Amino acid sequence: MLNIVLFGPPGAGKGTQSEKLIQKFSLVHLSTGDILRGEIAQGTPLGLEAKKLMDQGILVPDEVVIGMIKNRIEANAAAAGFIFDGFPRTIAQAEALDTLLNGRNTPITCMLSLKVDDEELSRRLLERGKASGRPDDQDESIIRRRIQEYNNKTAPVAGFYHNQGKLVDIEGVGAIEAIFEALCDAIEARA
Ligand code: ADP
Repeated sequence: MLNIVLFGPPGAGKGTQSEKLIQKFSLVHLSTGDILRGEIAQGTPLGLEAKKLMDQGILVPDEVVIGMIKNRIEANAAAAGFIFDGFPRTIAQAEALDTLLNGRNTPITCMLSLKVDDEELSRRLLERGKASGRPDDQDESIIRRRIQEYNNKTAPVAGFYHNQGKLVDIEGVGAIEAIFEALCDAIEARA
């Protein structure tokens, strides 16, 4: 089983590369951002609560996203593996994911961390906001808040996987195909 954490700041290209990786390696894509936006679109109580935080660029509570991921893992018990995209975003989430996966004897294979500088991130997010209509991509102060949340709460998650010998840094600026090849090489070296 291949369990990949695709890591990086907002706008690093996790969604784009996940789409390509799930096809090549027949994996199930679990994006907590996509799942939360699905809840918002359906107008569920969870979605309404999450929207208030997401529109400000603030992380939703750990127990909410951990519960969503647990359900999806259990619902896809026959999967060849998972790509975790936008999760784990805090140390508590990373610990919960380890507990979930170790209990199934299917630990994380590696964390692939896309490296992109802050200026390029802001540029990409504002550009994406024009097309996606995502409220959290439209406003520079919200984007700055998301990058701040990332630096404070999420960046330390790389250290968690580094300590397990599972962290691989990948250059995230360049051609989409070239970045994809670097990701594939890293996965194949550890599969
Ligand atoms: P991006 O990586 O571009 O910020 P996402 O779709 O991954 O986009 O996340 C959008 C928002 O959803 C985040 O700013 C946060 O509010 C919420 N979110 C997504 N995943 C998580 C998570 N694992 N933990 C907490 N909040 C999350």
